[in-house]
Amino acid sequence: MTSSPCVEIVEVGPRDGLQNEPEIVSLDNRLALIERSIAAGARRLEVASFVNPKRVPQMAGAEDLIARLPRRAGVTYIGLVLNKRGAERALETDIDELGAVALTSDTFAGKNQGQSSEESVNIACEIVERANSAGRSASITISAAFGCPFEGEVAPDKVVAIAERAAAAGPREIALADTIGVGDPWRVKDLITKVRKALPQMPLRAHFHNTRNTGLANAYAAVEAGVRTLDSSLGGIGGCPFAPAATGNIPTEDLVYMLQRGDVSTGLSLDALIDSSKWLAGMMGKETPAMVSKAGRFPAPNKNEHKSTAA
Ligand code: ZN
Repeated sequence: MTSSPCVEIVEVGPRDGLQNEPEIVSLDNRLALIERSIAAGARRLEVASFVNPKRVPQMAGAEDLIARLPRRAGVTYIGLVLNKRGAERALETDIDELGAVALTSDTFAGKNQGQSSEESVNIACEIVERANSAGRSASITISAAFGCPFEGEVAPDKVVAIAERAAAAGPREIALADTIGVGDPWRVKDLITKVRKALPQMPLRAHFHNTRNTGLANAYAAVEAGVRTLDSSLGGIGGCPFAPAATGNIPTEDLVYMLQRGDVSTGLSLDALIDSSKWLAGMMGKETPAMVSKAGRFPAPNKNEHKSTAA
């Protein structure tokens, strides 16, 4: 059994990325970003958040966006849902998957969602049950799984206990999210190993922010620990509401470069990602944090090869 693993990349730039950027991007450009990600090979994308548009103007127009999404064979879309009202809104659209969120600390849950940690887990479970009974798919992300901006360190046992409760609701997958980018590869390996031991059948996804430049190391540790789905954003757009000058999600093109070098297949085209990342930087009117789109891939493509992949 020496075959190389496949890793599924969930493109979260259209939601987590754009939500944490100060600029408000037009619906047309949000759709263009989605189109470009699909053209580069993305097959699962987080595109919307069913939150109050007054609170999060970057994500306004979720229903309009979803009505205009390109429908392609094998491409599915995730909409973030934080409460029952959000679930109702989501189920009135054609969104394929509801992404529910459970938080590890009471302070964070209170500030982010107006809930306690316990309530956030219960609501996430209800959202999954409602989605499943409506014939939709649903996942639960455990936010601040590696540290809380208010309460500091989060005990792995607490995350495992939340994951066990979340699993009982029947999500397609549980995600461990380093929402504020404080994780390191050793803790990532430790937590994933503990959750996999507790829930050996449950598919796990990992979500990293590059706030402290440990994002790709964490992604490597997650893959080594058995995770087969990772979130990333084209260009590494986004940020962290708790560290205003911070960078965003791990950049899709940097992640794909790293995985390709390890013979891990992702189904994504690095050249197409680099082209789209340059388009994105132009559209946003600023440099993005991603590095491979500036340095280029290695080995450099020869001209004929480049032509055929761009066609
Ligand atoms: Zn995030």
